Amino acid sequence: MSHYDPSVHTTCDVVRQAIIPATKAQRCAYSTLVGEQKPQKMVTHSWQNLFRDLVAAVIADAVNEPAFELVAHLLDENIDIVEDLLRSQGTGGRVYWICAFAVNQHLGICETPNDGCDSVTKLPYTACDCHLQKQFNTTAPLTSTGRSIACEMNKFDDMMAFLASSDSDFSQVVAVDRSFNLFHRAWCVAELVQARQMELLQHVKIHSKAVLQEHAASLHDLHVENMKASRQEDVQEILSKIPNTEQFNRSLQKLVLDQKSGLLSDWHQLDAAHQMQETGALLKWAAADAERGVVWKFWAR
Ligand SMILES: [Zn+2]
Repeated sequence: MSHYDPSVHTTCDVVRQAIIPATKAQRCAYSTLVGEQKPQKMVTHSWQNLFRDLVAAVIADAVNEPAFELVAHLLDENIDIVEDLLRSQGTGGRVYWICAFAVNQHLGICETPNDGCDSVTKLPYTACDCHLQKQFNTTAPLTSTGRSIACEMNKFDDMMAFLASSDSDFSQVVAVDRSFNLFHRAWCVAELVQARQMELLQHVKIHSKAVLQEHAASLHDLHVENMKASRQEDVQEILSKIPNTEQFNRSLQKLVLDQKSGLLSDWHQLDAAHQMQETGALLKWAAADAERGVVWKFWAR
């Protein structure tokens, strides 16, 4: 993807124009190409998020940063610092499950690029012509509950349950985009609720406290029936599993907003000064560099 622009291109852009072309010959998931490993964490994220911010949120988790603003800057300006930090923390080899890489896109969406156009050129995505037989939500053979067995896009709950059953430390990273769009996407919300029901530890990574303050009000109006997904059948499947939407919405708002136990409660409870202290290894690293007279490029601007 030679025209990749980290400040504009989304995960959807990268899936359509880098991951799908890179895996077309083998007609497999990207994770199959690089060697499948059992993940220790799964990442919930929106495909409309900047791909750079998804990567920054994952790295922020690996280096124990609550926010990913600094990591996102460093990915653009000085990736060596990020690599050094990952090495020093010994977390560079940690395996994260990310649907864009772990799901075989050639079994699903590759031939139907109807989810938009390139964020820079505005040209429509090109359809893949791998001709692999597609396995959608209702493609036979089906389970007794009518779910396709071979489909890879209807199994996030089974996958989470399977990984959690064999690893008591298995947890979820929530990579929240700067617009907080994640909380309005059907898949993301379904994964948040599933993880909470399974009592998985949930690590929420946001860009910054400023972004939280800007968007917190929009979270008071979360209704699962208004959630969006690229494929309408996904919304239907998610809604079909919810017996009482009113009750679900109340639980969802509590899950996100509750001041004590909600996903964002750590952020709400920390005042600004405390957050600076709590901010993890990256700031300490920067401070040590500053003492040695090394000024990080983006801070000098
Ligand atoms: Zn394909």
